[in-house]
Amino acid sequence: MALPAARHLTVPDGAWEEVAAWGVATRVSSRVYRPRTADEVAEVFALAAAEGLSVGLRGGGQSIGDASLNAGNVCLDLSGMNGIRAWDPGTGVIEVEPGVTVGRLWRTVIADGWLPPVVPGTMLATLGGCAAANVHGKNHWRAGTIGEHLLEVELALPNGEVRRCRPTENDDLFRAAIGSFGMLGCFTRLTLRCQRVHSGWLRVEPVAVGSFEEAIAVFEERRSAADYLVGWVDGFARGPAAGRGLVHQANHLAAGEDPDPRASLGPAVQRLPGAILGLVPAPLAWRLVRPLLHDPTVRLVNGVKYRLGRVERVHRQSHTKFTFLLNRIPGWERAYGRHGLVQYQSFIPVAHAARVFRAQIALAHEAGVPPYMGIFKRHRPDDFLVSYGVDGFSLGLDFKVTRANRARLPALTARLDRLVIEAGGRFYLAKDSTLTPSSFAPYLAEPRLQRFLALKRSCDPGRLLETNLFRRILGAAGAA
Ligand SMILES: Cc1cc2nc3c(=O)[nH]c(=O)nc-3n(C[C@H](O)[C@H](O)[C@H](O)COP(=O)(O)OP(=O)(O)OC[C@H]3O[C@@H](n4cnc5c(N)ncnc54)[C@H](O)[C@@H]3O)c2cc1C
Repeated sequence: MALPAARHLTVPDGAWEEVAAWGVATRVSSRVYRPRTADEVAEVFALAAAEGLSVGLRGGGQSIGDASLNAGNVCLDLSGMNGIRAWDPGTGVIEVEPGVTVGRLWRTVIADGWLPPVVPGTMLATLGGCAAANVHGKNHWRAGTIGEHLLEVELALPNGEVRRCRPTENDDLFRAAIGSFGMLGCFTRLTLRCQRVHSGWLRVEPVAVGSFEEAIAVFEERRSAADYLVGWVDGFARGPAAGRGLVHQANHLAAGEDPDPRASLGPAVQRLPGAILGLVPAPLAWRLVRPLLHDPTVRLVNGVKYRLGRVERVHRQSHTKFTFLLNRIPGWERAYGRHGLVQYQSFIPVAHAARVFRAQIALAHEAGVPPYMGIFKRHRPDDFLVSYGVDGFSLGLDFKVTRANRARLPALTARLDRLVIEAGGRFYLAKDSTLTPSSFAPYLAEPRLQRFLALKRSCDPGRLLETNLFRRILGAAGAA
């Protein structure tokens, strides 16, 4: 593609800036461009190619590891392309630009009695970033990933060409670009079908479980009736008690059950509280949590949380509070301190899940890096070319990174990786910051990943689109 003449450039010039991963542990310097239109996206592609720089795409920067980082090269920040192009409250179909956040989308549709059918646990992610990671929610085993609800995407390829992709048109590219972590092109427009809801409340039922086996039994027993299921795991419970925690089942209210849906779907109910326990202003809360995030205090707090959870009763909770737990404490990640956190999430087939997760927690304690929090979910496979879906469970473990444990973490995660690979499990690149080329190599042999790499070669022969994640996990295979 011809380089646009300098006087015709409309995108503001990019400056070198520090760009961080959500998990704080990785920071890089990049030349950041903030396009406002699809034409400006193409301009930056052409400029970067002319200067011999690669381009890493970035939405809300909510990936926990380095998926949205591109050290020493261009960062194309799409958060300014945030227009809602069309919303039809009659059909629940919404068309947006890629930088529209999950929170904005949510607020746009909920008052009309609709919800995005799949959302991650943060409202700060963008729709472009969610499609690029093919995110799941607390209903993954039932609703699938966000890609299964996208009716159409517009993809700007590295050569400036724009392709419209649907499940039935350019379907190969559709199944490859969704979940591709920005390696094939840039989503410049997305059309999503929302789901109808009849109330702003969910009926939430807590169930205490004493082990992974019990948690799995609760999920399997309830999943045909539940709309959402999520487990909190006490990372300090080990041996036979590993997996001890709380499972929360949530269900929508049926039509007619809520006497005043207009009120419950309105902002007064759906707003996140401005203060924690009615006392501490939410934006300050992470500062109070920070001194508590040490092994003895977290062990104590986890024990208390588990015991309190055992007497928790069925209650109603707003969709917003149930779905976006961590957004209640803005800047939560900063509570982990200067070195941030690493989240290790692995997806394991049902038959091996309890054994592998118990072994992971044991290895973490043996390495002197106990996980502070564990999140447990049920999943299902899908047809996308880059996929983390399994018929099984995932456990996301949060490790606080410190000066003392930083050097030990890679050896620990390499041992955890081996357990996952041996069990036929998978990894999720949106959370990852530790996979190595040797841990990722077994997946490269899969026909669908081979198909994806072939598309990468044909859509992006000059390897314009790259990120730290891409270089880290592909290593020499990426260069080939
Ligand atoms: C508190 C928290 C909770 C989370 N919970 C969940 C969860 O429950 N389920 C889940 O699946 N994930 C979850 N995540 C992960 C998060 O949803 C994903 O990382 C998501 O991709 C973030 O979107 P983003 O807009 O911030 O994208 P970024 O992090 O900025 O980028 C993510 C990837 O998308 C690419 N990209 C960004 N924009 C575009 C575009 N327009 N076109 C093409 N590629 C693009 C980037 O290059 C990058 O590879 C959570 C993250 C946090 C911090």
